[in-house]
Amino acid sequence: MIFKSPFPDFPIPQHLDTVSFLFDNLTEVEKLKTALIDQKNGLKLNYSEFVNKINSISNGLLKNLKLNKWDVVGIWSPNHIDYISAVYGIVRAGLTVTTANPSYHIDEIVYQLKDSNAKALITHKSIYKDALNAAAMLNIPRERIFIFGEEKIENVNRLSDLFVNSSDFVKPNFSLEELNSKPAFLMYSSGTTGRSKGVKTSHVNMIANLLQANVVEKSDVKEGDCFLGILPIYHSYGLGYILPGAFINRISIVICEKFELKSFLETFEKYKITKAHIVSSAAPLGLEISKELYRILKVPVKQGYGMTELSPNSHGTRSSHIVDGSFGVLAPNMRARVVDVETGKDLGYNQEGELLLKGPNVMIGYLNNEKATKETIVDGWLHTGDIVKVDEGGNYFIVDRLKELIKYKGFQVAPAELEALILTHPAVADTAVVPLEQEMAGEVPRAYVVLKPGFCATEKDIKDFVSSRVANFKSLRGGVVFVDVIPKSPSGKILRRVLRLQAIEETKVY
Ligand code: AMP
Repeated sequence: MIFKSPFPDFPIPQHLDTVSFLFDNLTEVEKLKTALIDQKNGLKLNYSEFVNKINSISNGLLKNLKLNKWDVVGIWSPNHIDYISAVYGIVRAGLTVTTANPSYHIDEIVYQLKDSNAKALITHKSIYKDALNAAAMLNIPRERIFIFGEEKIENVNRLSDLFVNSSDFVKPNFSLEELNSKPAFLMYSSGTTGRSKGVKTSHVNMIANLLQANVVEKSDVKEGDCFLGILPIYHSYGLGYILPGAFINRISIVICEKFELKSFLETFEKYKITKAHIVSSAAPLGLEISKELYRILKVPVKQGYGMTELSPNSHGTRSSHIVDGSFGVLAPNMRARVVDVETGKDLGYNQEGELLLKGPNVMIGYLNNEKATKETIVDGWLHTGDIVKVDEGGNYFIVDRLKELIKYKGFQVAPAELEALILTHPAVADTAVVPLEQEMAGEVPRAYVVLKPGFCATEKDIKDFVSSRVANFKSLRGGVVFVDVIPKSPSGKILRRVLRLQAIEETKVY
C-alpha cells in the first residue's frame, strides 16, 4: 500500500538556488527584521545585513579564490554567528559546501576533506591547529584557509578578510539541470551501511524540503517568534531545517556556540524563545519523557523524523494533532511504503516494516559511491533502514532501527568505521560493533572482539586505542567483549541482530 500525506501536493520551484529562493524577494519591512542573534554578545543582524554578508562572502570567493563552479569548500567549526552566512555565501557563488562535525579527530576531518575533494576550508579558533595540519596534508594552500571571528591568529586569514563589497556582486547563472542534479550541499552520513558518505543535496532538494516542512510547521510560526539555534549547524537538522525554517518565515534565531545549562536557560528568558528544536538522541522519544516535559513546561512537545538523505525532513507533528509516541504525519509531495523486511512485500496499517520514501527532497545520491546509492534508492524509493508502523490516522511510529547506524546523543556512529579501526589493532583478528541501548544517550557502541592466537589485550587497551583515534562521541561506551567468533551469515555478513540481542542479554539487570 502506498501512503499519502494529509496535505495536498504543490509545485516545487525548479529554477532557483537556495539563497535566491530565501532572500531575493525580501520586502522593505522584512529587510529590517532581525535574522540572527549572537548568544555570546547579543549582537544582532537584520535580514538586509545578513544578505549583504552572504553576498560579500560569495563575491570574495569568486574574486579571490579562483575556484571553479561546484568546487567544494569545507566548513569545520562549532556554531558561529557567521556560519550560516558562510554556507549560503558558498552555495550562492555556485560552489558546494561540505560541513563537518567540530568534535572530529584530525584523521576524521582529513577523511571528509579528502573524500569531498575540498579546495578551501573555513574553521574556528578552537580547532584551527588541527585544521591547518589537515589542510597541509591535503595540499590546501594556507591562503585558502579562513577562521571565523575578528581575532587574527598566527597570520591565518579571518573570514572577514575574504569579504568583498557586495555592491558589484553578480550572482552566477544556474541551469535547471545544475539546480536539480549538482550537489550544493554535501553533508556526511553513513546511511544504512558502511562508512560516512557525502550526501549530495541539490538546491531543488533543499528548497523542496523547506517548503514541505513549512507546510507542517506553518500553523505554529507567528510574527515575533524567536527560534533557538543550539543544535549543530553542520548537521542536516540545523542546516536544512531549523535555520532556514526561521528564515523562510522572516523570524529571528539565536545562534549558540555550545551547550551550557545556565546560559541555555538564560537565553530562553532573555530572547523570549518561542520554539526550541532539540534532539532526543535521534532515538524514540519515550512517552514518559514527553509527558513529564509537558507537565513541567506546559508547552507542546512535538516530534519530527528525518534523515540527512531526505534534506532532511519527511515527517512532523501538527500542534493540533499531537498523538502520543508518534513522530507525526508525512510531509506533502511525499509517498511512503512500509515493507516486510524479509519478503519486501508492502504492508498495511499498523504493521511493522521498513519505511520507504519518495519525494522531491530525496537526495541525488552518495558522492562517488554508485553502489551505496543504488542499494539505498531503488526505483526512486529511499530505503530509510528504520522500522516503523503507521495507523489509520496517518500517524507514524518508530519501532526499531534495521540499519547498522548507532546514534549516540543524536550523533552518528558508523559501526563499519569503528570495525575498520579496531581491526588495525595488532592483537585483533576480527570484530563487530553494535548499538547497546542506554536511557540517557540513546545508544552507545559496544565492540565484540576476537583476538589473534597468542595475543592478548584488555578491554581498556581496545577502548583507549579507539578513543585516541576518533571523536569522543564514538568511544566504546558500551564496552568491549572478547569472543571466540563473530557470528556471520554464509555470505560473510555480520549477523548484527544476533549480537544486538546478545548485548541486551549480557547487560540485563535481573
Ligand atoms: P541523520 O541522518 O543523522 O539525521 O540520522 C537519521 C536517523 O536518525 C534516522 O534514519 C533514524 O534512525 C533516526 N531518527 C530520526 N528521527 C527520529 C525519531 N523521531 N525517532 C527515532 N529515531 C529517529
